[in-house]
Amino acid sequence: MICNYCGQMISRNLTIKEIFLPEKIAAEQLCLSCAKGFQLLEKKGSCLGCQRQLSTTPYCNDCIMWQRRYPEYDFHHEALFVYNKTMQEWFEEYKFRGNYRLRYSFAVFLQAYFKKKKNVLVIPMPISTERMKVRGFNQVEGLLDAANIAYQPYLVRFIDGDSQVQKTRKDRMALKQPFKLTKEGQEAIIAREVLLVDDIYTTGRTLFHAAQVILENTPSKLYTFSLSR
Ligand SMILES: [Zn+2]
Ligand SMILES: [Zn+2]
Repeated sequence: MICNYCGQMISRNLTIKEIFLPEKIAAEQLCLSCAKGFQLLEKKGSCLGCQRQLSTTPYCNDCIMWQRRYPEYDFHHEALFVYNKTMQEWFEEYKFRGNYRLRYSFAVFLQAYFKKKKNVLVIPMPISTERMKVRGFNQVEGLLDAANIAYQPYLVRFIDGDSQVQKTRKDRMALKQPFKLTKEGQEAIIAREVLLVDDIYTTGRTLFHAAQVILENTPSKLYTFSLSR
């Protein structure tokens, strides 16, 4: 086996669990030293709304602000990994340098998480057509594809968003609604449990915009998830 991230040989036997994984997923895992750099988020001691670590209060300041702005919304975001330096570098390589092979890096973790979300309509966060032309792939769909998770691309992004990285926190909070639903999506969402999936959760601004569009079409429940936060 070769590590999906650093390319080092992994010399160990497959575990029983791995033997039952699809071949490609079992083969494209992280080596022990890469895996060590990524830190799983802990539920304990983290914000109930967004899993931000080290919060001493039940909800962090961002979540308190969101609750004020969207009082009807039952907000409970879930994420798997801490957005630390290792994760930041990984996203550089995957998303901005376009190393599409890295979509497999977390497939095992994503499969385990989505196993608990049966009968849920999975909707990935979209990227704009301009962004698609530059990158060549939607990074969220790539992660889901690698983990064999079925999804529906019902959301459309008509204002580009990646330039957000350079924006200040205040600028980001003031952004306009950049999403809409496809016609098919508007009907499909009604009375369904929906899981909205993103790659990174930062301020929640993007996620809330997408959530708002989905909630207007009355799903029975809306969950949100990101690989990292
Ligand atoms: Zn490695
Ligand atoms: Zn929070």
